[in-house]
Amino acid sequence: MNRLASAVRSLAQAGGSFYLYDESSIFRHIDLLKETFPQAQFLYSIKCNPNPHVIQSVCSRGLGADTASFGEVLAAEKAGLSPDQIYYSAPGKTSEDIRRAMSRSTLIADSTGELLRIQAAAGESGQILHAGVRINPDFSFGGGPGSSSKFGIDESQLYEFLAETPLKNVVIGGIHVHLKSQELRSEVLAEYYRNMFHLAETFEEKTGFPLKFLNLGSGMGIPYSPDDRPLDLEALKETTAELFAGFHTSHPDTAILIETGRFAVGKSGYYVTRVLDRKISRGKTYLILENTLNGFLRPVLARLICRYSPDPSPEGCEPLFTCRDECGIMTFKEEPPSEQVTLAGNLCTAADVIAEDILLPHLEPGDIVAVTNAGSYAAALTPFQFSSQEKPAEFFLTEEGKILS
Ligand SMILES: *Cc1c(COP(=O)(O)O)cnc(C)c1O
Repeated sequence: MNRLASAVRSLAQAGGSFYLYDESSIFRHIDLLKETFPQAQFLYSIKCNPNPHVIQSVCSRGLGADTASFGEVLAAEKAGLSPDQIYYSAPGKTSEDIRRAMSRSTLIADSTGELLRIQAAAGESGQILHAGVRINPDFSFGGGPGSSSKFGIDESQLYEFLAETPLKNVVIGGIHVHLKSQELRSEVLAEYYRNMFHLAETFEEKTGFPLKFLNLGSGMGIPYSPDDRPLDLEALKETTAELFAGFHTSHPDTAILIETGRFAVGKSGYYVTRVLDRKISRGKTYLILENTLNGFLRPVLARLICRYSPDPSPEGCEPLFTCRDECGIMTFKEEPPSEQVTLAGNLCTAADVIAEDILLPHLEPGDIVAVTNAGSYAAALTPFQFSSQEKPAEFFLTEEGKILS
């Protein structure tokens, strides 16, 4: 933490707001994943943080990539991944996306129409393509029956389609399901994995395609609010060990893939900004910060959603909104908190408030404020263009203590 604090201090001297990502913390989280699921391979969901140093660092630990656009396929390639380590799964891929990505990644079809477009592209180029399909299964994440979704192909529809439609140039070599993010209950995750292994067996029985990969999607969450209890990894490992080992033994040639964005990097980033002004209005103290809504959107959006919702803790809508107190606010003052302040940004909208009536040490213009949980869905989700302010910089603190920009 000290190394991190001194990096923040020295970077803050140059002025301007910035993100700082901490490689040691990224490595710690990746090690936790590997310890929890020794039979699995992991894919980094690039959309959560496409910073090139972050991608490079995650991939240096042996993770492949879960990409959501052709641009992300290229970013994964740039980080040194080979086509068999890059999975491209997103709704609405165009024929152009398919043609450009088919030799550079494993395509995962999101609809029956897309399967036909993949068949057409493979046919045109005279190849036999190994692709995956994203399935909308007959079960839901928390147990219970499946529901309607814009993602994937309904399970029963897929079996019917494959039975009726000859795909001469496509071999379905894998299945992918991703139903939910940010789950903190180990027993719910364990039940989901149980259903997934069962789905893999049903798929093989019904279609006759042997699976080269079973992509379990993401789901593992991180604590955001002080009320969140972190995922119990020991319990998760204990309840799933037999399940994973059993599937691995019965399917030695099927890679078990787990996607992870936020778990790998979410806790490893900080957004740092500074106080530009302080004022008191009718007894309320405001600190005006540089780039809040337009520097780190999520905590501002959380406040906005809570303000408009009649529910005191509205349900999350990942990755834009998780919960009321999504992020912590840190100062670099030794003194204890002494005043109640509202932190607002320098945009011309009243919605630009990042924290209201919180207790902080006394801050003056020029003092810095760091916001936690800024490693995933932070810079990537933020509308930087609004009001033509300077965009925050991004820095990366390597395990050896070097700062890269
Ligand atoms: C966004 C996304 C993920 C990553 O989710 P996290 O909660 O960040 O781990 C994984 N898979 C798919 C298909 C996604 O869309």
